[in-house]
Amino acid sequence: MPKNEKKKSEGELLKEKLVYKKKTAFEKCPDEKEAVFAYCEDYKKFLDNAKTERDASAYSIALAKKKGFKEYKFGKKVKAGEKYYYNNRGKSVYFFIIGSEDIEKGIALTAAHIDSPRLDLKAHPVYEAGGMAFMKTHYYGGIKKYQWTAIPLALHGTVTLADSKTVDVILGEDESDPLFYVNDILPHLARDQYAKNLGAAIEGEQLNLLSGSMPFDNETPEAIKLNLLRLLNEKYGMTEADFQSAELCAVPAMKARDIGLDRSLIAAYGHDDKVCAYPEITAILSLNKPKKTVMSILADKEETGSDGNTGMKTSAFCDIIADICEALGKSERIVRANSVCLSADVSAAYDPNFAGAYEINNSAIINCGIALCKYTGGGGKSSTNDASGEYVGRIRKIFDDAGVVWQTAELGKVDQGGGGTVAKFISEKNIDTVDVGVPVISMHAPYEVVSKFDVYNMHKAVVAFYTAK
Ligand code: MN
Ligand code: MN
Repeated sequence: MPKNEKKKSEGELLKEKLVYKKKTAFEKCPDEKEAVFAYCEDYKKFLDNAKTERDASAYSIALAKKKGFKEYKFGKKVKAGEKYYYNNRGKSVYFFIIGSEDIEKGIALTAAHIDSPRLDLKAHPVYEAGGMAFMKTHYYGGIKKYQWTAIPLALHGTVTLADSKTVDVILGEDESDPLFYVNDILPHLARDQYAKNLGAAIEGEQLNLLSGSMPFDNETPEAIKLNLLRLLNEKYGMTEADFQSAELCAVPAMKARDIGLDRSLIAAYGHDDKVCAYPEITAILSLNKPKKTVMSILADKEETGSDGNTGMKTSAFCDIIADICEALGKSERIVRANSVCLSADVSAAYDPNFAGAYEINNSAIINCGIALCKYTGGGGKSSTNDASGEYVGRIRKIFDDAGVVWQTAELGKVDQGGGGTVAKFISEKNIDTVDVGVPVISMHAPYEVVSKFDVYNMHKAVVAFYTAK
């Protein structure tokens, strides 16, 4: 012991042994800053290229192909060491590597979602009013509507034309592109709006995209609308009727940027849940001939309840496992019973500006690593996968052995609200599942914030989980 270091009292020693103390990533892993910052440069690139589930699917498949992943189709033979991806309709992807050990020992699964809250165009969106052309939207996912006014918006998606050819649309991401915009009322005339509660201040039918103001000519009625349709026709070959078979989403046009002079935080659209999807991808792409069979799922439609054939409730999930098992001559039931899953989704970071919504001892603190949520849901733990203590114990040991910075968390105070993830749709398939994810500030806002250190620990966590004994 160095000379001037005071001998610890019995109480201090006992405290060290018995009392839990949450530590920051800076205390636990003081030498990782360089790796963390480098990792997050690539994460920011991913964010800018993966704003919708379609963009995220295409971008991650391109990354996987470079690492030797091959497209999987139902009925295909699979073999140990080979890497595959299953592209579910361009909106959800399953990456997997067949391990060297018997698949009946179980698959190590992780599931994140790649859809984020946004404004979807309606089937008949275009109209003209007050000398302007607008496009009507129907919001997707849980948004605070007032947050979507007066910000730059870009349009992403597809239009399937009358001849059934599909055209891709990304408009508003290039610096030279025009943008879209939802109007708000000026404070000078906001007396009526101020009197409303926050949830009613902007209504769903006011989320209309400002899309032009110049007429095609001075004679034709609705010439501003006509001019907008003309420009869309020139650019995409589409007519007004083609909106009926389009999937166009207005998303924030802002790029991912560092926050704070120390650059420790990232603001971006869609951290929920690209901040877990990206670490899943980098983790599975980093593996070479793993012992366990591993699968990384990027699900769609989580923000609207996981329904539909690209959501986590789809039978495609079990069908893929069944198909692999059939190809290997193994029992799907045994494989599922022995499989384990991290439901990789974000949690709420404790926010001192809204301290009243949180119970601080059980909240995720920024920079204290990823949040493990034994249960989510609302009220008296309704509508949740409540992971067993034994399974949480198993994950806890995996994380600790690998030096992952992690903490446990609930979403907020009891009865303050709640939320769900895909966890329950996986655990009901007889698979041990627990929620793990990056804490987010201003979740579901058009521009959300996370810590770079927490993002990096998500990558470490998934690698540790995939390679655990
Ligand atoms: Mn989420
Ligand atoms: Mn969400």
